[in-house]
Amino acid sequence: MKILVLNCGSSSLKYQLINMENEEVLAKGLCERIGIEGSALTHKPAGKDKYEIQTPMKDHQVAVQLVLDALMDKDHGVITDAKEIGAVGHRVLHGGQKCTQSVVVDEKIKDVIRECFPLGPLHNPANLIGIEACEKALPGTPNVAVFDTAFHQTMPKKAYMYATPYEWYEKYDIRRYGFHGTSHAFVSARAIEFAGLDPNNSKVIVCHLGNGSSLSAVLNGKCIDTSMGLTPLEGVPMGTRSGDLDPAIVQFVANKEGKTVDEMLTILNKKSGVLAISGKSSDFRDLVSGKEQGDERCALALDIFTYKVAKYIGSYITALHGVDAIAFTAGVGENSAPVREMVMSYFDYMGIKLDLEKNKEFGDDREISTPDSSVKVLVIPTNEELRIARETLELV
Ligand code: ADP
Repeated sequence: MKILVLNCGSSSLKYQLINMENEEVLAKGLCERIGIEGSALTHKPAGKDKYEIQTPMKDHQVAVQLVLDALMDKDHGVITDAKEIGAVGHRVLHGGQKCTQSVVVDEKIKDVIRECFPLGPLHNPANLIGIEACEKALPGTPNVAVFDTAFHQTMPKKAYMYATPYEWYEKYDIRRYGFHGTSHAFVSARAIEFAGLDPNNSKVIVCHLGNGSSLSAVLNGKCIDTSMGLTPLEGVPMGTRSGDLDPAIVQFVANKEGKTVDEMLTILNKKSGVLAISGKSSDFRDLVSGKEQGDERCALALDIFTYKVAKYIGSYITALHGVDAIAFTAGVGENSAPVREMVMSYFDYMGIKLDLEKNKEFGDDREISTPDSSVKVLVIPTNEELRIARETLELV
């Protein structure tokens, strides 16, 4: 069966068509600037030339149709009939407390996705539009929703409750949900397999470090804690997000500068993190090269980021009562040897040793710790699309 994986953002749509017989990607691509002037589709079919078109896309319905047309194009396509697509797997940001696993979409599920709009205001509406666009464009083809929050639903109450008025939880579902769940699920499962651990007796920490970053503590394959919270703002500092902070800062600066809470939250989401500390860039490549050239604020941004990641790892070692493997993934985790080295330097006290040469290599799944390290340190490239496709296949 061929499965189309869709990841709809507010003005973008990423897709992959995967042949599930061999898990080969037949084509992938991206629609950008949907609903904005200058919309463009980039389509990359396997073994054929890349194809780019600039054409107006007034909404996601138009974008989905353009993707289907590209997949069936006589020169750049990889299928001849839309019926070859057996199912569509959709990345959905927030499933709240009701959607704790992937599910075939029906009207009730669409209602739940709608109910979660306040919890994922930027993503959930776009995710639902993507689903409805596929219902129209591919009538009869099942749509499966794979939630970013689902993997974290096994957290115990002590991990997901905030120490805020209890009725906030009862009335508004205020609690930790966690995000990047598909990635944490994929990487933790692969880490268990790769490190040869017993799935029912394993302690793994996943460090998903990208533009957005989150960590998870995974006991026997199930998430018991994660660093992002009600929204993706909590946890370690990120490209442009502050991560954890004293909420009183919001009141203090809002009063000083006459800003609303919404304006403050925009600053904490979009103008903070390593971008704000470095004053230069949210891209970790720029921070590393800035540090090499003597830029103190780039060095400070890296220091703060890696210190906070190490502190989360330390707390998760405690939560898990030990750790067997620590896995790095996502843009920074997979590619930045300096970041991995800085993070792991905090754990020499417990006999975790990086092989500094192996740490500098690039490639697929790999171990970067020495044979005598007390804990295996791994790099496991994440593959959220494949995980979405696998879960979709299982359900249909
Ligand atoms: P997201 O999915 O959250 O947008 P990614 O996981 O794709 O992010 O990660 C993107 C980030 O990865 C970029 O912001 C960049 O900082 C970082 N990155 C990519 N390659 C490297 C590299 N070689 N060294 C350091 N950082 C890198």
